[in-house]
Amino acid sequence: MTLKTSTDHIETLDVAEPPSSRRSTGAPCYIAGTGTLLVSFSGGLTSAYMTWKLKRASRNKLVVVFANTGQENEKTLMFVDKVDKVFDLGVVWVEADVKPKGIGTKHRIVDFETASRNGEPFEAVMAQYGISNKAYPHCTRELKQAPIHSYMKSLGVEYQTAIGIRADEYRRVGKKARIVYPLADYWIVDKEEVNEFWSRQPFSLGLEEHQGNCKWCWKKSLKKHFMLIAETPEIFDFPRKMEAFYGKVRCPEGRRVFFRENRSTDDLFALKEAGAGRLLNAFDVDAGCSESCEMYEAI
Ligand code: SF4
Repeated sequence: MTLKTSTDHIETLDVAEPPSSRRSTGAPCYIAGTGTLLVSFSGGLTSAYMTWKLKRASRNKLVVVFANTGQENEKTLMFVDKVDKVFDLGVVWVEADVKPKGIGTKHRIVDFETASRNGEPFEAVMAQYGISNKAYPHCTRELKQAPIHSYMKSLGVEYQTAIGIRADEYRRVGKKARIVYPLADYWIVDKEEVNEFWSRQPFSLGLEEHQGNCKWCWKKSLKKHFMLIAETPEIFDFPRKMEAFYGKVRCPEGRRVFFRENRSTDDLFALKEAGAGRLLNAFDVDAGCSESCEMYEAI
């Protein structure tokens, strides 16, 4: 079935039909009931593909929100803006508005032009909650979940949330009420399908896999960090500064650092300098942040 939209001129694919056992008609559908569906748009290729599919196939009222951390690649911001305009998604850009203790993080609305580029929301979260890392993974909560939910609360509607995790990433699917995973539970979409879709489009994200998300995200593998240190060492100036300024926030007896195995930014550089890249092994894998930083995932 071909679903005509105002963007049909830019691509030639039909909406991929869900397997027969998972659909009633194959026609445009409601996902998770008939109400509002919040689409958490991470700025990655998979998330953008899910949003495009939902826009074409879902009859739910879609609210598409992108939460900018201030440490995204410029190419991510350009991609979000382009996807929004070309696919007519009405993306709402939000950033964390960190409030004093006891109030909780709210949101502020920005756009492509006014979005933070120097880590301002990220720094505000570190100043309030301390350095995030595997033991204290609050950056996703405060930079993604909280501002997006604050925005949705301002709309005053009941809603469910669609997360862009694919069927081949099922280990990342969490079990929470009111969260749906259309690409894993409704349509069965894998990475190959996503890549094939974008190979047909006149534009794409333009980032290598190791460059996605917050540029230096602490969830990336050591191998990716070493690649990034070789390519763009300056992107680590920010986490180095955060560790120096806020390492003792909520950690008065010690000092919190970002990276795995209690490594600081300087430790990463020293390891690379010492040639540790040769010793990397199969256990050096991403912690679920290879393409996107999703609001709800099992990590
Ligand atoms: S991409 Fe990484 S550093 Fe950025 S908010 Fe997500 S988990 Fe935190």
